[in-house]
Amino acid sequence: MIKALINVNIFNFDSLKEKSYVLFNEKIIEVGLMKDFKGADEVYDCNNQILMPGLVNCHSHIYSTFARGWITEFNPKTFRDLLEQMWWKLDRVLEEKDIYYSGLVSGIEFLKNGVTTVVDHHASGEMIKGSLDLLKKALCDCLGIRGIFCFETSERFTIDECIEENMLFSKKDSTMAKGLFGMHACLTLSDESLKEIASKSEGVPIHIHVGESDEDNRESIEKYGKTPVERLEEYGLLRENSILSHCIYLSEKDIEILKKYKVYVAVNPTSNFNNAVGLADVLELEKNNIKCILGNDGLGFNLARDMVNLLFGMHLKYKSPTAYSLENLKRVIENNYEYASKILNCKLGKIEVGYEADFINLEYNPPTPINEDNLFGHFFYGMLDNFKPKNVWCNGKLKLENYKILEDEEKIYREARSVAQEIWNKCKEK
Ligand SMILES: [Zn+2]
Repeated sequence: MIKALINVNIFNFDSLKEKSYVLFNEKIIEVGLMKDFKGADEVYDCNNQILMPGLVNCHSHIYSTFARGWITEFNPKTFRDLLEQMWWKLDRVLEEKDIYYSGLVSGIEFLKNGVTTVVDHHASGEMIKGSLDLLKKALCDCLGIRGIFCFETSERFTIDECIEENMLFSKKDSTMAKGLFGMHACLTLSDESLKEIASKSEGVPIHIHVGESDEDNRESIEKYGKTPVERLEEYGLLRENSILSHCIYLSEKDIEILKKYKVYVAVNPTSNFNNAVGLADVLELEKNNIKCILGNDGLGFNLARDMVNLLFGMHLKYKSPTAYSLENLKRVIENNYEYASKILNCKLGKIEVGYEADFINLEYNPPTPINEDNLFGHFFYGMLDNFKPKNVWCNGKLKLENYKILEDEEKIYREARSVAQEIWNKCKEK
């Protein structure tokens, strides 16, 4: 079955093709001008809307879904307090139903925000084995979005179980779902654990938090005489395509080390602002050929907000409205597609022949002239200002139509609210 979107204005971040059509099944088969359109089995008229690639969120925590509105004792003085008083209290009680519903709710919210691929960093104390498969079931099988999953190995849980879950899932090989080797952070992993991970993880790229707070480095130097980056290098864990999330606190030596490896740094500006920890020096990393990608660290689902906050945050960091440009931001967005494409072994990020049919259409009526020179400015200051896709397609399937999810959203949310209440009760009891 060949489908067609007609009367679209194709936006590929650096080009705009007006009055076009796209033919596709799971992949894009043909792109052309409307005057050359010859028909298809199913035709969707987009009435001159923007058609652009679905977004990729490169660092998320789906388990944080049920933290919204949770009232718990919270008065952190340090970053560790923040983990202990909030996130560790929550993730340790999560079990089967909680994981599944967090996946369903997240998937729905991601689709509504135009995110069609998510890289998740998962933890659930009451169900380790099988938890990644459950996330896949909710996000990929049920809602049809692509996922790259891993379990946060740490000494808070049984190390062997974490390793086993990561390794089992890493054997999956599909363009819809894939695994990385998850590690929480160096502060929850002793040398012995790092050694065990290194020997049992069979070269799978890692996904870990690094330098999110100054404490991560201070504790590491006090305890081991090395920074987290130095420890990861020592155990041979800075593998190609690994994700080091945050990297706000890096020493000059850390940067020298990271330069040598083909790892990616995931920046999460909105979460960093919320936790008041600072912002990675994306310019410095870029200068050193260390590629940055963008995530949201599980704070909501709106990746557009992180795109905006990255640029504004860098302006503030450098106290200059020009130090970090739209071109810099565009490179980070391109890196997100490059990363997901490599891991999932498919082509994401453009509306071109051979790319996966993951795209979104937006109603955008430019109030000023739009052309190739100012296109990304329209994207940043216009489209991202009110980024609500009307339709979302993933793997060639329509998943959001006219702003509505095609699953029974109300039923899922009703159940999710009761699951959330049970989780909060469990947290209180523990
Ligand atoms: Zn995180």
